[in-house]
Amino acid sequence: MLAEKYSIVSVVAQALRGQRGWKPVWREPEPRAEYDVVIVGGGGHGLATAWYLASQHGITSVAVLEKGYLGSGNVGRNTTIVRSNYLLPGNIPFYEHSLKLWEGLERDINYNAMVSQRGVLNLFHSDAQRDAYARRGNAMRLHGVDAELLDRDAVRRLYPFFDYDNARFPIQGGLLQPRGGTVRHDAVAWGYARAADRRGVDLIQNCEVTGIRVEGGRAVGVETGRGVIRARKIGLACAGNSSRVAAMAGLRLPIESHVLQAFVSEGIKPLVDGVVTFGAGHFYMSQSDKGGLVFGGDIDGYNSYAQRGNLPVVEDVCEGGMALMPGIGRLRLLRQWGGLMDMSMDGSPIIDRTPVEGLYLNAGWCYGGFKATPASGWCFAHLIARDAPHPVATAFRLDRFATGHLIDEKGAGAQPNLH
Ligand SMILES: Cc1cc2nc3c(=O)[nH]c(=O)nc-3n(C[C@H](O)[C@H](O)[C@H](O)COP(=O)(O)OP(=O)(O)OC[C@H]3O[C@@H](n4cnc5c(N)ncnc54)[C@H](O)[C@@H]3O)c2cc1C
Repeated sequence: MLAEKYSIVSVVAQALRGQRGWKPVWREPEPRAEYDVVIVGGGGHGLATAWYLASQHGITSVAVLEKGYLGSGNVGRNTTIVRSNYLLPGNIPFYEHSLKLWEGLERDINYNAMVSQRGVLNLFHSDAQRDAYARRGNAMRLHGVDAELLDRDAVRRLYPFFDYDNARFPIQGGLLQPRGGTVRHDAVAWGYARAADRRGVDLIQNCEVTGIRVEGGRAVGVETGRGVIRARKIGLACAGNSSRVAAMAGLRLPIESHVLQAFVSEGIKPLVDGVVTFGAGHFYMSQSDKGGLVFGGDIDGYNSYAQRGNLPVVEDVCEGGMALMPGIGRLRLLRQWGGLMDMSMDGSPIIDRTPVEGLYLNAGWCYGGFKATPASGWCFAHLIARDAPHPVATAFRLDRFATGHLIDEKGAGAQPNLH
């Protein structure tokens, strides 16, 4: 069954039929005994990988196995920010490739993902921080990425309601990436799922992978709650659970799992029209189309597989918000939730082959993997299809922790909870 093409014509036609003719967005197939490629994890990265395997490499004998429902993980739990404002050469080309794919995504997958390039502004509060941000902005511009260093008056013109004279954290200016912004997160999962399904990819929900079959050093299939599924190649894209799933093939990953929380306030009139990060603590925010302020902060700081957070971090995040924008104190918190982060040892991801032949790894996205979704899927599909890394992802090697070629964007050292 082919889903219809969404267009103004189909919207009008459905309206005339009383909205009763819409078809399911994807099929619910039974798993086959064997596929060319099995992707473990139906989050953003797994679904994007399946779509690009089909659309860019013509590989359609693909199954995406998801233990819950599609998009039930971090792709539906994040704060929707996309940007490419990185410093290091290993990162900038990859994230810029991702931002370019975001810019064309809706046409590519025929789905409204509400891509909104409303600008991402990182505030700085000291001379040293301004120098660091200027350096990062220069690195971005050298790579052809948009970046503007704003002084305090320019920031004040954009956001007059911030506390500029806060005694501890006075705002001195900010680094703006105008092309950064937000994308409706669960629409990304649904859009990639629908597009991949249209090309014949089987999306199997409620299908937990419980084992990886390895014969003679080669991965040949997975054990699931719905039987054994054999595959020529297996890609792991199970953020937050990467270590557990990789352990099924005898691998120990340089990754810790941590909780990250997010928050939404009650709806208010349009106030914050971009994405803003506080530079003196861990707090960032944007405003959703429903009017709620969407904000978040630091990870909870201890290893966990629980998708819920602790109260001290709630307090810490709200304190950051109050220091930046005291008016936020009059808002009520509507919702709060947590997701599981694969925190790698240098804060950067892994897209690579593993020592087990036929087993490929996409992991370690820390709390910044949503923005990477298109490029991650693009590069992982390239790696699986061609057995060679994509040129913009060559730095994301698994063996860099042994060879010392780390991509430590923050300079925090081998301390996963600090990245
Ligand atoms: C609160 C919060 C805020 C965030 N904010 C941002 C942000 O603003 N910008 C940004 O860029 N990033 C952000 N992130 C990070 C981003 O969401 C993640 O890095 C990214 O979504 C991870 O990739 P994914 O979408 O494939 O993960 P997921 O959606 O988590 O997909 C992995 C899937 O694997 C499945 N799975 C696990 N084990 C198995 C198994 N054994 N068998 C079958 N399936 C399995 C899971 O159920 C899950 O659906 C945030 C994350 C959180 C939690």
